[in-house]
Amino acid sequence: MAFENILGNEKNKEILVRIAEEESSVHGYLWVGKDGIGKKLFAIQFAKMLLCESNSKKPCDKCKSCIEFNAESHPDFMMIEPDDGKTIKIEQIRYMQEKIAEKPITASKKVYIINNSELMTREAANSLLKTLEEPPSYAIIILITSNESKLLATIKSRLMKIYFKPLEEDQILSYLKANNLDVDITKNMLKQCEGSIGKAIKVLEEREKYAFIDDVIKSLSVDDITTIWRKSDVLYNAKDNIVPLLEYMGIVLYEKLREKNEIKYANGIKIIEKAKQRILANANYDMSIDDLLLELWEEFNS
Ligand SMILES: [Zn+2]
Repeated sequence: MAFENILGNEKNKEILVRIAEEESSVHGYLWVGKDGIGKKLFAIQFAKMLLCESNSKKPCDKCKSCIEFNAESHPDFMMIEPDDGKTIKIEQIRYMQEKIAEKPITASKKVYIINNSELMTREAANSLLKTLEEPPSYAIIILITSNESKLLATIKSRLMKIYFKPLEEDQILSYLKANNLDVDITKNMLKQCEGSIGKAIKVLEEREKYAFIDDVIKSLSVDDITTIWRKSDVLYNAKDNIVPLLEYMGIVLYEKLREKNEIKYANGIKIIEKAKQRILANANYDMSIDDLLLELWEEFNS
């Protein structure tokens, strides 16, 4: 995997290649952007370039450093992530600090990536701060986050911030095509992906549910309300993950609104938003879905 094979954020690629090739890296970075848009891939590739020992194009994929990196056995590289999916603990940061104190072995630098860095516990963050205040001369630390507001200001102020943008819809589509994943993704489903490959994959995994939402919206003007309630299992069964489906419903109506400019679609969007708020406030779930469908049906048939 090289930068050329990572989609989007071309300007960032140029900047990072330059930093690596001119050996002008700072000690700490903060990479900010939504989930699923390739920040981690960028960081891994940048690490490989920083560690590469070639004097010209980096990464060369030939030097000892590149070979060890590709074999995932580089002694001067480490990825720190929440090991339970929830938090990055102080033990993980301490272990990193022990390692960072040792001189590089293969390369002339050491690179540490802290993914989902907003999930560091308070103790972990405070401990990391000490390393960021006085990093060893060879150390480079990259913090990745999708929520920079959760990071300590004292940490952020010591890092060079790089923002990553969501991908364009045609970039997502070409990724899906290249990976043979583009089974019937509709324009509206692409909008639901919000420029994230990760989200696109989730949407495709649940494609049937999204297709069902399309159906329900069509049948609002055709069927009677009892038929709609009866066939809406997908909504009644989605209690644990209803928000993306409601958001998608909103997208479908918004696109209708743009196309036809009829007020019922604007009102429909408000009805969906209201239902979402009710559900998030722990109102009775089935009743909230009943009401949502009834209110939409009334709006479409008045
Ligand atoms: Zn190399």
